This record gives sequence, structure tokens and C-alpha cells, in this order.
Amino acid sequence: AFEVLVIGGGPAGSAAAIYAARKGISTGIAAERFGGQVADTMGIENLISVPYTEGPKLVAAMEQHVNEYEVDIMNMQRAEKLIPAAQTGGLHEVKLANGGSLKARTVILSTGARWRQMGVPGEEEYRNKGVAYCPHCDGPLFKGKRVAVIGGGNSGVEAAIDLAGIVGHVTLIEFGEQMRADEVLQKKLRSLNNVKIITSGQTTEVVGKDGKVSGLNYTDRTTGEAHHVELEGVFVQIGLVPNTEWLKGDIELSQHGEIIVNDRNETSIPGVFAAGDATTVPYKQIVISMGEGSKAALSAFDFLIRNSAE
Ligand code: FAD
Repeated sequence: AFEVLVIGGGPAGSAAAIYAARKGISTGIAAERFGGQVADTMGIENLISVPYTEGPKLVAAMEQHVNEYEVDIMNMQRAEKLIPAAQTGGLHEVKLANGGSLKARTVILSTGARWRQMGVPGEEEYRNKGVAYCPHCDGPLFKGKRVAVIGGGNSGVEAAIDLAGIVGHVTLIEFGEQMRADEVLQKKLRSLNNVKIITSGQTTEVVGKDGKVSGLNYTDRTTGEAHHVELEGVFVQIGLVPNTEWLKGDIELSQHGEIIVNDRNETSIPGVFAAGDATTVPYKQIVISMGEGSKAALSAFDFLIRNSAE
């Protein structure tokens, strides 16, 4: 059995494994795909002290760093079920899709999240070629250009406000008759002079030219009329879905499916910690996930020394 078993090999899981291994305790990391969302990212410009890197390069660096320590890396392993220890300090069990199971005195859950996609033609084709999901990450790449934000919930309206300060023009498209964001955000958005708000709009296609986004088609759901908007970027803000379906019923999740953690990364189960995009911690970013993973490992270590084996 491991002393620390990390589930998920993104920035949070990598940081957790390194911090745990540096305490000299037996550490394993099981991940469906080492690297996580970073593996799907092009340019990264906000990892402090690294002005520019690219996803695959950062994944290789994370893996190399983890390999500096005695960490048992189990890649391409999907966790399917968590069976918590019968008593505090006992062994937790994690069942894998391959039929195997792993046991550990502490578990750190860092299975990350995925952006909900619109599922329209062009979205996948122009991903990272104008279709973006993270305004904090990619906003500056559209300086002075025209973009759309899809979604009028809090994240969409926050993204539109944020982008309006960087880009030339923002078109916000909300599917419903009204935006769903907090009124204070809507009011702020309406006060900006380079933002157009479209409600009852259903995006039907992302169109491109020369391998880049050149526009977007949407249907006015009240009149049925089709419209085209010329632009260079589309930010999809219709939800970030945590990869926690497999934990439902075994651990406390928020209404959005995020693992509820406190400021020490403790979950509702003693000895089980969580970090990164899969949790309730606000602002889903690489640097934040790395910090959270480190915190979770330190909390796991603290738990181990307080609940030492008989
Ligand atoms: P993830 O990176 O999502 O990693 C989750 C890990 O868990 C993966 O290894 C996955 O395979 C594994 N996993 C999932 N389910 C299971 C399971 N059941 N069993 C076993 N393993 C499982 N952030 C920035 O700071 N800067 C950027 O420029 C930036 N750009 C981005 C661009 C894109 C296209 C995307 C999608 C995200 C971007 N982000 C960026 C956000 C950033 O990637 C995430 O905040 C960060 O990766 C979260 O780290 P994490 O370790 O919590 O989760």
C-alpha cells in the first residue's frame, strides 16, 4: 500500500506527487492521461517565472520533475471507485477500470475538469485556432480583435467584461431570453461601449478561413433568422465540468460536482484530500493547481504523522 496515492496527473497531481515524495513517503500517481489539460494547450504565458512555454513541453517537464523522485507513475489508469477506509487512519481503496485496485493510507484526488463544448461544426476544428475556453489564458492573444463570448452565466459575463478591456469588440451570445449572471455583472457589462449582447441566440457554426476562425453563425431563437458575425475569436463559456462522476455518493460534492475542500484541501473523508480544477477552489489555472496540489500533499503528510500506523 502507498502512504500517498495521487489520482490524476495534471499540474495538481504532479505537484502533489513531488511534495509527497520529498517527504520520503511511498508515493504513487495513477492517471488516465499524464499531463491533463496542459497536454491540450498551445501557448502558456502565465506560469510565473516561465514567460512562454507550450503544453506538451510543460507536460514533459512535469513528468521529468516527478521522475526525479521515487514516485510510482501508473499512466493510462482510470479510477472508477473510491472505497474509503473503514476507520480514520485505515487504508482507502481505489478501484481501477482495468480491474485492479490500489490501496493507500491517504489519497489525493486531482482528476481535473473539462470545458463543456458547444458541439457545433467548426468548434473542434478551430480549437486553439480562434476557439478558446480560458479568457485568463488566451484573452491577450486577441488584443484589438473581435471576439464572441458564448454563454451569459457568471463565467460568460465575467469573461466578456475581462475581454472588453483587451480586445476590440465583444459579442456576447446567450441562449436563453435573458442572461443568467448576477445583476451587478450584467449592469457592468451593459455599461461597456464595445460590447454587444445577443439573447435567444443559438450558435450553429464556427466558420474559418486559412486555418483560423473568421466568423460565427447563430440563429435568433425568437424569429428563426440566421445571422453571421465576422470575428477572430470565440470564447466558449458554457461550463467547466469536473471529472468527479466516479466519486458521486462517496464524497461530498458541490451542486456543480466539484469536490468540496477546505483551505487545507481536506474533503469530507478523513485522509482523503483533493486539489486543482476538480475542487471548489476558485479560479482554475495551472499555477493555482500546482499550489493546491502542493498544499494537499503537505496536509496528507500532516495527517500521516498524526495517524501513524499501529
Ligand atoms: P487536469 O489538468 O485536468 O488533470 C487531470 C488529470 O486527472 C489528468 O491526468 C487526467 O487524465 C486525470 N483523470 C481524470 N479523471 C480520471 C480518473 N477517473 N482516473 C484517473 N485519472 C483521471 N491554465 C493556465 O494557467 N494557463 C493557460 O494558458 C491555460 N490554458 C489552457 C488552455 C486549454 C485549452 C485548457 C483546456 C485549459 C487551460 N488552462 C490554462 C487551465 C489549466 O490547464 C488547468 O487549470 C489545469 O490543467 C488544472 O490542473 P489539474 O491538475 O487540476 O487538472
